[in-house]
Amino acid sequence: MAERVIAGVLPRVRAMKAYTPGEQPYGGDLVKLNTNENPYPPSPAVAEAVRAASNRDSLRLYPQPASDDVRAAAAAAWQRPIEGVLIGNGSDELLSVLTRACLEPGQTVAWLSPTYSLYRTMAEAAGAHVVELPVQREADHSRAMLDQALAKGDPRLIFVCRPNSPWGETVGLDELGRLCHSTDALVVADEAYIDFSHADSALEILDQHENLVVLRTLSKAFSLAAVRIGIAFASPDLVVELDKLRDSYNVSRLNAAAAVAALQDMDCQRLNCDRVMASRQRVIERLRAACWEPWASDANFFWLPCPDNDGRAVYSRLADAGVLVRWFDSPLLSGGVRITVGTDEQMDLLVQCLGNFT
Ligand code: PMP
Repeated sequence: MAERVIAGVLPRVRAMKAYTPGEQPYGGDLVKLNTNENPYPPSPAVAEAVRAASNRDSLRLYPQPASDDVRAAAAAAWQRPIEGVLIGNGSDELLSVLTRACLEPGQTVAWLSPTYSLYRTMAEAAGAHVVELPVQREADHSRAMLDQALAKGDPRLIFVCRPNSPWGETVGLDELGRLCHSTDALVVADEAYIDFSHADSALEILDQHENLVVLRTLSKAFSLAAVRIGIAFASPDLVVELDKLRDSYNVSRLNAAAAVAALQDMDCQRLNCDRVMASRQRVIERLRAACWEPWASDANFFWLPCPDNDGRAVYSRLADAGVLVRWFDSPLLSGGVRITVGTDEQMDLLVQCLGNFT
């Protein structure tokens, strides 16, 4: 019976690998530096808003279908028209919406590699053809990417994660603009980490490119990973189409209340991001002084190449000391670890643990 049921699942779904999220241990006092959460709490207004929204009468009712209050708050926060804003249950939902909107089986989706591994999960679920283009760290990323992508098949969708995970480099705005200009694919600038960068947001050029979508999340800069709010900025016409594919009532009433409060306190997130950026600079300098060679990063994490190209050994030693970082089991990435920037105290502990590494 079970076999018959499973046989009904699409072959491409059965063939795909599930997305591997970072570990999310509950309890214990691990120093958690593995999934790029913000080490500082969100705006105090968030807890207040959630409390106010938790009354028994409001919980009885469905939330706003298209999260209009969150849309309005996001539009105001970034000075964009509300018609050009779509709210997702995390930016992960918006990535899924975009993939389903643009890709039929066999059509091409392109991205720089390595990058956020969920893109592949989404592409495989859609039966898309994937073109991965190697990141050239100091080079003209998107130019090279586009040339190669066009040579390998006409992409319908291109993901540009800026700053990119896990290495922390950022495709420049000029390059991104050129990329949008020279393709009719939808170009998605995934800016989950842009608030930790000195680079300008792709929102600056959104009005010049109808095929550009800019994704933001409240999970990192706004310290609200638990709340699951993603934001897509695009042309109003495109938002009308994408809106058809999101889940109905995709944002809960409590999450919407939290999001509105956070978006109305932009100073709090700026302060938290500035602190993380200062800690990033400090920890990278300290590690370099201790003869490690961390890569410069534009995000709230950095890449640390490991001795003997053995990232797993460093991951394990740190885990034994109660410090959780991210090790990726893939040929391109297994030689290092990705470390989320935490507080200065957490970074001091990290440096101390790495100092003991022999
Ligand atoms: N894009 C990138 C590059 C990410 O690293 C993440 C977080 N894993 C996301 C999007 C998804 O963020 P959210 O929590 O909004 O779903």
